[in-house]
Amino acid sequence: MLHRPIKHCRNCGAAVVYRIPDDGDTRKRAVCPGCETIHYENPLNVVGTVPYWGDKVLLCKRNIEPGWGKWTLPAGFMELGESTQQGAARETDEEAGARIEMQGLITVMSVPRAGQVHLYYRARLLSDQFNPGHETIEARLFAQDEIPWDEIAFRTVRETLLRFFSDRETGRDTVHNFDVS
Ligand SMILES: [Zn+2]
Repeated sequence: MLHRPIKHCRNCGAAVVYRIPDDGDTRKRAVCPGCETIHYENPLNVVGTVPYWGDKVLLCKRNIEPGWGKWTLPAGFMELGESTQQGAARETDEEAGARIEMQGLITVMSVPRAGQVHLYYRARLLSDQFNPGHETIEARLFAQDEIPWDEIAFRTVRETLLRFFSDRETGRDTVHNFDVS
């Protein structure tokens, strides 16, 4: 799941080589032997929401790989030029067609294996009518005891749902910051 290696220089198009640059760096980078551009690769942000309606949460059945046919929370890669909350709202609109009021952060998860950071926000649904996009087969509400735990697409989604419901039980909305291997 790590990013595909860079093959060609973004500046001049020459084939790059992976080596430690001569500037005191300690990691291998894609270095262009032609124009000497160093290409830095850093983790990507995945942003999403836990949309809730009373005691139920909204899950989307995936119409795309990975995890086709499994259930997920609305989430996706942040785009340049948007904030984390804007990205989470956009994904919620694109994948579920859900109208929400954005609330506080619930999880911040580092996923070093994938080179990603995932952030989820609580989001109060303003309607229980959904209009899912092409990436979603079906969008529907689940109470805690209805969640298809064996058919959740990603561990980060499962971990976020567990914290959402445990916060509900304690009546405290907290930010959970942890790593997912
Ligand atoms: Zn170059």
